[in-house]
Amino acid sequence: MIPIAEPIIGKEELKKVVEAVKSGWVSSRGKFIAEFENTFAKYCGVKYGVSTCNGTTALHLALAALNIGKGDEVLVPALTFISTANVVAYTGAKPVFVDSTENYWQIDPDKIEEKITKRTKAVIPVHLYGHPCDMGGIMRIAGKHKLHVIEDCAEAHGAEYNGKKVGSFGIISCFSFYGNKIITTGEGGMCLTNNSAVSARMNMLKGHGMNPSKKYWHDEIGFNYRMTNLQAAIGVAQLAKIDKFIEGKRRLAGLYGKYLGDLAEKGFITLHPEMPWAKCVYWMYSILIENKYGKKRNNVIEALLKEGIDTRPFFYPVHTMPCYRSDNVSFPGAERVSSKGINLPSAVNLTDKKIKYICDAIIKYSN
Ligand SMILES: *Cc1c(COP(=O)(O)O)cnc(C)c1O
Repeated sequence: MIPIAEPIIGKEELKKVVEAVKSGWVSSRGKFIAEFENTFAKYCGVKYGVSTCNGTTALHLALAALNIGKGDEVLVPALTFISTANVVAYTGAKPVFVDSTENYWQIDPDKIEEKITKRTKAVIPVHLYGHPCDMGGIMRIAGKHKLHVIEDCAEAHGAEYNGKKVGSFGIISCFSFYGNKIITTGEGGMCLTNNSAVSARMNMLKGHGMNPSKKYWHDEIGFNYRMTNLQAAIGVAQLAKIDKFIEGKRRLAGLYGKYLGDLAEKGFITLHPEMPWAKCVYWMYSILIENKYGKKRNNVIEALLKEGIDTRPFFYPVHTMPCYRSDNVSFPGAERVSSKGINLPSAVNLTDKKIKYICDAIIKYSN
């Protein structure tokens, strides 16, 4: 079976994690935490890194640090992983969905403004499947309406908008280091910010809200969202390889594009886009199955599975989930992209031969 994703973990990670274990610093203190935070922040071109135990807690921590809560509204794309909407709900605020563009699959800047009300406090652009959002358009609208921008970079470490890395645009940006992400710490996350007060507040809140200058004094209700030194040790070793991983993802994209080019040319499928202003990191190399292909998306997934190829359907639009459903909204862009999309195997160690095999299976099933 060709898996959809596979973490690449070698002897470097093992060496560091053993060092962390032997040091006795196995919880959320130890030298690897600051090292991972600082080097990751620097990699993204941001001043401060605040590590967390996963990407979801990073997003929740960001909202909590900005005092977003009951009575507030936060804009999120309809097409995203559920976590982006859930964290808004955790705070008591309301996630308000925004449609996505059909051509590059990200939150549509032109659809943001119509969703802004007196209660809107923030927008969370998600750089989905490794492609950056139109950060120029988003920052302009957010600036005009004084909204916080919190970037969800869980799927896009190292991606760039106009030559600038994602995660360096918003007041806070949030990353995940889950096992299938661009780099992994097993579970893990991080918030980045250039604002020292926001960074200090996130550090305070993630450690039970404890006053940094008075032990066991808690001014407000915090969380335990800390990353362990063991996770950070793995992170340090993974980070040293991040450019190689991204190069690997882009190599896969080139091969998929080459072998599926004819099918795309005929309009049977749409390849994973990369806008002229974007550097996409192709977290999951993805295609859309168009009507001309002649088979339903779910049938393609089944057929590929029979050939030993593991794939995934795109996320269902969040506004269609029972917990967020509301009758009077429809997001045609998000719905169309979601219903046609497939993530193809995207482990960076896939050989040219395996990619060819996958593409041949996709071509064969089309006629
Ligand atoms: C993976 C992911 C998250 C959540 O990260 P976890 O580490 O799994 O909590 C959030 N948003 C998006 C878009 C993701 O893909």
